[in-house]
Amino acid sequence: MSQKELGYVELEWTCPVCKTRNPGTQTTCSGCGAAQPDNVQFEAPAAAAIAEDQAKIERAKTGPDIHCGFCGARNSATAKTCRQCGADLTEGKAREAGKVVGAYAPDTGAVVRCTACGMENPATARQCVRCGAPLDKAPVAPAAAPAPAAAGGMGRGTIIFAILAVVVLLGLGWLVFAMFQTSDTVATAVDARWERSIAIMGQVPVQASAWRDEAPANAADLSCRTEVRSTSDSPQPGAREVCGTPYTLDTGTGMGKVVQDCVYEVYDDYCTYTTLQWGVVNTVVQRGDGLAAAWPGANLGAGQQLGQRSEKYVCVVTADDREYTFDLRTDAEFAQCQPGSRWRLSVNALGGVTDAEPVR
Ligand SMILES: [Zn+2]
Ligand SMILES: [Zn+2]
Ligand SMILES: [Zn+2]
Repeated sequence: MSQKELGYVELEWTCPVCKTRNPGTQTTCSGCGAAQPDNVQFEAPAAAAIAEDQAKIERAKTGPDIHCGFCGARNSATAKTCRQCGADLTEGKAREAGKVVGAYAPDTGAVVRCTACGMENPATARQCVRCGAPLDKAPVAPAAAPAPAAAGGMGRGTIIFAILAVVVLLGLGWLVFAMFQTSDTVATAVDARWERSIAIMGQVPVQASAWRDEAPANAADLSCRTEVRSTSDSPQPGAREVCGTPYTLDTGTGMGKVVQDCVYEVYDDYCTYTTLQWGVVNTVVQRGDGLAAAWPGANLGAGQQLGQRSEKYVCVVTADDREYTFDLRTDAEFAQCQPGSRWRLSVNALGGVTDAEPVR
């Protein structure tokens, strides 16, 4: 982000005694003659044109004004002694500088009406051009309207939703309870089932996207569009400068520096394409009853290879005329599921086996 200088505008300050708005470069109030205290901040004017007064611009560049340590009068940064009391200004207090005072509001020809005589004055005026009465600050361009607040109170839909939520929660609670509430029983193995599968891997076309210079060499069906790839503070070949809303910084002199943050957007081709990647093209499965589990055979085509293997073993048992099934993780565990073998089961209220141990 680089900061671009657009020029200077005169700020203003409001007299804390009589509320008169005064031009920023003026150090005493035009309404009552009071000096600007060091704690009275400069404000952005309702509307302002970029200043052309070289003296004011030069003053803005010399650095923030200094308030006299004895009488408080505002003096320019270059002054050595106070213009009001003659005191040495090395004891003085420099005004703060660099703070954002607001968005830059160029003069758009807006008007502000004098409340004393009804005269329409330009928004840049601080006193009525006809009667001299102080003018209110013209409204600055309104900020984006805030989103309307959500209507208060609970609607009927909310209540119905709340009731449904309670019912669902109660149901879930019961389910969890039923899953953890278990009873033990001894069962006899009656069957053993197994299923083994192997994934067949091959090159499959997939859609992918990348910057043109990062796309793989085998990319096909390239379709590209121009997008911002990076931003830079300095000009780059083919880059476009993008700047934000101008805003005004306090220089501490009564003048504001109008700046704009800019970046250079660097464009490049972002492409969508088809490329070949290893993927599952088929899965061969073999399943059966009994303990003699076997891997399925696989006929590999050109450019294919075997992928991930998976196995699933299920032991079927009966107890008190009820049939239960449970999974065994390895074929070594599965080998214990001999017909007639005895198993101690933990069974939950839903009939699911939560634990199974062979009875030795
Ligand atoms: Zn005043
Ligand atoms: Zn002084
Ligand atoms: Zn007036």
